[in-house]
Amino acid sequence: MSKVFAVYGASGCGRSLMPVAVDQLRRLNAQADSQIVFIDDALEEETTVNGYTAMNYAKFKSINSDGKFVLIAIANSHIRQKIAEQLVEDGISLWTVQGANTLIMDAVSIAAGAALSPFVTIAANVTIGKCFHANLYSYVEHDCIIGDYVTFAPRVSCNGNIHIHDHAYIGTGAVIKQGTPDKPLIIGKGAIVGMGAVVTKDVPAGVVVVGNPARPLNKP
Ligand code: UDP
Repeated sequence: MSKVFAVYGASGCGRSLMPVAVDQLRRLNAQADSQIVFIDDALEEETTVNGYTAMNYAKFKSINSDGKFVLIAIANSHIRQKIAEQLVEDGISLWTVQGANTLIMDAVSIAAGAALSPFVTIAANVTIGKCFHANLYSYVEHDCIIGDYVTFAPRVSCNGNIHIHDHAYIGTGAVIKQGTPDKPLIIGKGAIVGMGAVVTKDVPAGVVVVGNPARPLNKP
């Protein structure tokens, strides 16, 4: 038997992360005794996607192995949470994947299941929760605290002393102003920052902000 690695989600996010995952296995010399597949629940039958075997979760669960490791490559954070909880219940490990040129500096703690795409940088003294997605070219500067199931689209600039709470979504190219050690800038739980937004002050939980400077969308 061998280990089985999987990228969960065979749509845009998953197809972009599969080569990163394959390259990580190659770097760790883990290819010889392992296989890597896509999982996608839209698939009734086993098929191939970009040359990789793809199957639904029920089929994946039925594979005999020495261990299963799954990267959840689905941008919707609530789906990520649901799947992560199912995997834990089924005794399957969450897998963290990072690009060969992803840079992680000192005193960084990242919980299980992160997807750190190529060209991502995580600077010093940063704490990150479960199943974080940092897409291409995003960075997290010093002294940030990021909650569970947070999602960064490509090229997010998250400067120093920023706290981002669970399930927040930060759109492509957004820039978040740095906070200070005694007053970090806070992006609240489930908040959404639109693409290209320039966030200069706290964003309350659940609020959508857009523009420069970022302001709530459809403010009553
Ligand atoms: N998906 C799944 N199980 C779920 C929910 C979603 O396998 O419980 C798959 C879905 O079939 C789709 C992918 O996850 O192929 C999500 O793709 P989408 O294009 O919505 O977004 P992406 O996260 O790739 O940007």
